[in-house]
Amino acid sequence: MKYALVTGGSRGIGRAVCEKLAEMGYNIIINYNSNETAAKETAALAEQHGVSTLLMKFDVANKEEVNSTLVEWMESNPENKIEILVNNAGFRKDALFMWMEEDLWQSVLDVNIAGFYNVTKPVFSKMLSNRYGRIVNVVSLSGIKGMPGQTNYSAAKAAVIGATKALAQEVGRAKITVNAVAPGFIKTDMTEGIEEKQYRSLIPLRRFGTAEEVADVVAFLSSEKASYVTGEVISINGGLHT
Ligand code: NAP
Repeated sequence: MKYALVTGGSRGIGRAVCEKLAEMGYNIIINYNSNETAAKETAALAEQHGVSTLLMKFDVANKEEVNSTLVEWMESNPENKIEILVNNAGFRKDALFMWMEEDLWQSVLDVNIAGFYNVTKPVFSKMLSNRYGRIVNVVSLSGIKGMPGQTNYSAAKAAVIGATKALAQEVGRAKITVNAVAPGFIKTDMTEGIEEKQYRSLIPLRRFGTAEEVADVVAFLSSEKASYVTGEVISINGGLHT
């Protein structure tokens, strides 16, 4: 049984990715942190494509939780292969650096960087022995350009970009590709409260993007068609460049 694991699959970009990968015929492991209702909705949407889904609740930043759910499942289901890992779970807590207390700094790094490590390490080890894998990391324009008010989030996403490029070089021989997508402004809960009208004039395509538009690129990078693409960061930002 071939599986795709999508962290933060309950809402937004993660949900759209779950649907696309289900359309490609993958069974989906939908990770979420707290919103079980939304995760169940994602599962219902993915199952419309005739695949099975598994809801897996863990906080990516919490290694013990990852071990007791994901690692435990992998050990008790050795016949099931996770071929695709989409590290999508993420969140932001913005403040100007001057006002950025340590918990704001640390919590954003914990989810976005430690989360990447905690989930990728066990999944990737199995991919190595299977000699096939697709890892796609959802980063951000902030990690490329840097955004005022987001030193924590920009630092975290930039770190994952570095990790993407390094890991891609380590594992190419095992037919594992590692890429990243860097969305700009995408309409999800994360951008609720950010006025599209206010930013439209800065974006050449004059609008925010949709989760589905990001998911299409993630799906391509997750497919066998992207077999010669690795270590790349693909921007999806309507032309809003640095
Ligand atoms: P969203 O709508 O806020 O959804 C966030 C998802 O991540 C939810 O499924 C949430 O689970 C999950 N999540 C958050 N913290 C988690 C944790 N500690 N452990 C496990 N799951 C966790 O966000 P989004 O806009 O879809 O963002 C998805 C990714 O794209 C993030 O990495 C974000 O940084 C990146 N991104 C987004 C934008 C944008 O404009 N939207 C731009 C650039 C980059 P629950 O439902 O359980 O809370």
